[in-house]
Amino acid sequence: MSVLPPLLNRAEPRPRTASWSETEAWERVVNLICEGSFPHCCAMVIPGDLQGEAAVATAKLLLCESRRGGDGCGSCASWTEQGHPDLLACGEPMKPPAIAECRGVIQAAAYRPVVSDGRVVVVYSADRMLLPAANSLLKLAEEPPDGVRLLLMVEDEELLLPTLRSRSWVISLPSHREDEGLTPPRTPHEWARWIEDNSASEVDSLAGILSSWASWEARRGDFERAAVLERLRLVIQAKRLSRTMALDLIVLVLKEGFVFEHSFGDLW
Ligand SMILES: [Zn+2]
Repeated sequence: MSVLPPLLNRAEPRPRTASWSETEAWERVVNLICEGSFPHCCAMVIPGDLQGEAAVATAKLLLCESRRGGDGCGSCASWTEQGHPDLLACGEPMKPPAIAECRGVIQAAAYRPVVSDGRVVVVYSADRMLLPAANSLLKLAEEPPDGVRLLLMVEDEELLLPTLRSRSWVISLPSHREDEGLTPPRTPHEWARWIEDNSASEVDSLAGILSSWASWEARRGDFERAAVLERLRLVIQAKRLSRTMALDLIVLVLKEGFVFEHSFGDLW
């Protein structure tokens, strides 16, 4: 069981981190916490590399006596670089917890809080958990002990176990991103918009987009996905596809999950 994700130990703040905290969705989170009406189980939709700071920012408000955070109350004063005695976390951004880790936090959540009037349980990469781990959290999501708030950090709410999703209040952070366009679309809606925006794009410009997506995936640690994007870019450029074919291939591989290396020769 980790108390604080390693991401928080980074010495330098990352340049695009401010975006999620400037959204209306975050403002709503702050207001709900302030009013004391924040739900017991919340699924926060946010890219993996921002999950650490968003979870901690939420916990700082939830664990504060006045719910405002950073006011020097006993609970706020208990934050250290290692975390907070009433913050329990399992998994890491980009790395879902195994069932043993989940059980560990479930057990710990049953104890009385140390300095606050409640506890916060954060589950990172909750959308990537294996079924047994996700199932183990159902009871906590359904009936958390008094004062316990469960935060499920997810990149894609559609991938969250439906029985967990149905027990969660889902909020998307951020609703728009500073680096929008440099990251691959995620949802069908984003894909539809991307296809529309790029219907007249030249092959070189599509290749440039693939390249920036590959860098983004590599930065967030998904080297496998980055490699797929790079191979796709090479194929599009080397085969001199028309822009329509290039666009179709991108959608087929990235949106539909088509494994293009196996059948490429048969198709083109
Ligand atoms: Zn405080």
